[in-house]
Amino acid sequence: MLSMEFSKLADVFEKMEKTSSRLELTADLAQLFRQSNASEIRSLVYLCQGIVAPEFTGIELGVGDKLAEQAISRVAGQDVERIEAVYKKEGDLGKTAELLLEKKAQMLLARERLDTKKVQDNFYRIATASGEGSQDTKIKLLAELLANAEPREAKVIVRFVQGRLRLGIGSPTILDTLSMLAKQDKSLRPSLERAFNMRSDLGLVAELLMQGKMKEIGDMKPSVFSPIRPALAERLTDAKEIIEKIGACSVEGKYDGFRLQVHKKEDHVELFSRKQEKMTAMFPDVVEAVRKDVRAKEAILEGEAIAFDEARQRFLPFQVTIQRRRKHEVSEKAKQIPLKLYAFELLYADGKDYTMEPYEKRRKELAKLIRKGSDRTRLSDAVMAKTPQKLETFFEQCIEKGLEGILAKDVKAPYVAGARKFAWIKLKRSYGKMTDTFDLVVIGYYKGKGKRAQFDFGGLLTAAYDEKGERFRSIARLGTGFTEEQMKALREELEKTKSAEKPPSVDSEVAPDVWVQPTMVVEVNADEISKSPMHTCGKREGGEGLALRFPRLVQVRSDKRPEDATTEEEVLEMYERQQQR
Ligand code: ATP
Repeated sequence: MLSMEFSKLADVFEKMEKTSSRLELTADLAQLFRQSNASEIRSLVYLCQGIVAPEFTGIELGVGDKLAEQAISRVAGQDVERIEAVYKKEGDLGKTAELLLEKKAQMLLARERLDTKKVQDNFYRIATASGEGSQDTKIKLLAELLANAEPREAKVIVRFVQGRLRLGIGSPTILDTLSMLAKQDKSLRPSLERAFNMRSDLGLVAELLMQGKMKEIGDMKPSVFSPIRPALAERLTDAKEIIEKIGACSVEGKYDGFRLQVHKKEDHVELFSRKQEKMTAMFPDVVEAVRKDVRAKEAILEGEAIAFDEARQRFLPFQVTIQRRRKHEVSEKAKQIPLKLYAFELLYADGKDYTMEPYEKRRKELAKLIRKGSDRTRLSDAVMAKTPQKLETFFEQCIEKGLEGILAKDVKAPYVAGARKFAWIKLKRSYGKMTDTFDLVVIGYYKGKGKRAQFDFGGLLTAAYDEKGERFRSIARLGTGFTEEQMKALREELEKTKSAEKPPSVDSEVAPDVWVQPTMVVEVNADEISKSPMHTCGKREGGEGLALRFPRLVQVRSDKRPEDATTEEEVLEMYERQQQR
């Protein structure tokens, strides 16, 4: 079958960039998917996600300004200085390409119509070109697309390769759309979702669906080197509530380090972050330890990697562990700050899928798998607690040892991939009234006045995530808690995603000085949650919203995607609890 014309895709993308209604987005997507076929749906889904391959493969476009400018320059027949001048005026390279190519349009007679496959192929080759001469190869590949593109298509192409095309469609929308396609079977949504949770690959799920392979979707098993989407913990206020909720449970220490999903096949080990990025190169010490200490040919397990002070036999704070998140001087740092891996979950081993097994069983098998006596790979500490007293005593011991708190786990529950459920309940040391911090998405920033004018930074406007509406609703303006270094770094980072208008996926009545695309997540502490006439989080027609009182920055959470931020639902729950107390 012929591949879809790229102009069709560009039309839909242009429209989506401006839409905030999830219904409309789903309808547009469904129309697009219906016009495609089983051989191209996979790349089409990736394109809609703004990627060329699943994130866990590490294959990324990330074309910088300089490279894109050179490609535009070649095709528009103008020097780079001219491109930069237009870019400066327009503030957007996609728009720049469109304008310059419009001028050139009449002369480009030898244009070939672009189809989606060609575009996807070139994108993939750009993403994977490496080594000597690769810059030039990338410029050529991009220029080839631009030479054959209509000006409007060029805009979309440039924004895409730079990662600046913001379609505002998350995985739930794509899953909804896919289940709409298979309208004969309404019960399909949960099994599509589970298949996605097992493999973190929507392209694969869509392809199987188009091929009619329903059984394969339904029986999707974990596969080594495809990360499984992580199980997440609910929160409760104290030990008594936890025991009331799940009864006798296993209580584990909550280690405050990096969550790693470890995949092993013989000597080949890969490590994935909480958001399924490949982290293997950063942690050679963990890779080495896993090779020696995990006694299975094939395994997928999870653990927390954390820095440990051998001399004082204490866990080190997250601020120390995080220094291992780096691309350079990896081995020096590994020697200075060695990590220990505290394994807490077994998901798969030697052909057996453990995700559906109860915790008790998973834990037992995990204990067998880890070599005894290793000081680098350990089983997380755990005790059985039947009473709140027992749970509390263990909690105090954990805090004493320098841990963040505990996780109580339902011994009968399966591993709930990709969801926040009461199978795991977290209890953290509390700072004041709130039992937990918030992970919020930055939607804008303020310019500095007075002393802060020199950084041109005066604070952040943040939002919680509304899962159902796939939008970000404002909850707090953060003006304090920033060091000078942080101000500089935040400003620099946010500059890259600034937006002339409020992005469609943002719902806020408060306007910052500068809007940004909702991509950065920050951890925020606060005194309490209060009603607010200004903020939109938790707001229903005619009612009031919720805001954080005295919010302050704890840290940037680069391990979280915007969709992993604290949800509006969670804020509402926390507010309810606070009112009850
Ligand atoms: P937080 O910011 O509190 O770490 P989170 O949103 O990253 O929260 P949650 O699901 O709320 O994640 O809490 C579980 C997290 O706790 C896991 O992501 C993991 O990184 C960490 N963790 C530490 N020790 C354990 C353990 N023994 N079992 C499970 N998770 C653990």
